[in-house]
Amino acid sequence: MPLRIQINTKEIEGILNEILNTKSPPVGRCRLLSSGFSPAHALNIMEDISGHKECLGCGNCIDICPFLSREPSRREKTEQRTSMALESIVGEDCDQCDACIMVCPQVDTTIKHYVVNHRMLEVMSRLEQRIGDEDEPDLDLFLEEALSQT
Ligand code: SF4
Ligand code: SF4
Repeated sequence: MPLRIQINTKEIEGILNEILNTKSPPVGRCRLLSSGFSPAHALNIMEDISGHKECLGCGNCIDICPFLSREPSRREKTEQRTSMALESIVGEDCDQCDACIMVCPQVDTTIKHYVVNHRMLEVMSRLEQRIGDEDEPDLDLFLEEALSQT
């Protein structure tokens, strides 16, 4: 959905890393760094919306968020399915997994590729550290159980 010519991540690497290093949902700010709506994305309205970067309210980022899957009661705090809702119900409890960036139709592919190519090792090691946390599901046990059923 974003424009064909998308943001060059070399030009925004500093700010992008600052966003990705902050313990807060990153999708809204990555959306604003992106190129915006493509004219080829057909919406039957008179207004020219090309380049439009606002949240579509699709809720993809809310649906994918692992924190909200563990704490579904937080979702009951609002009916809204926007990045602003995500920020208000997740806040500093964000796992910094970057999944919300990956599923947002308004985030440029160049930013998604940057995350995959430059940040995933860090994300994986951060998530790996959670294994064994008292509050987290024991993934080793889960795996053993799954294997014992095969
Ligand atoms: S936990 Fe992951 S999906 Fe949820 S807000 Fe944080 S980065 Fe996005
Ligand atoms: S995934 Fe959908 S709801 Fe979330 S920020 Fe992107 S456009 Fe908005």
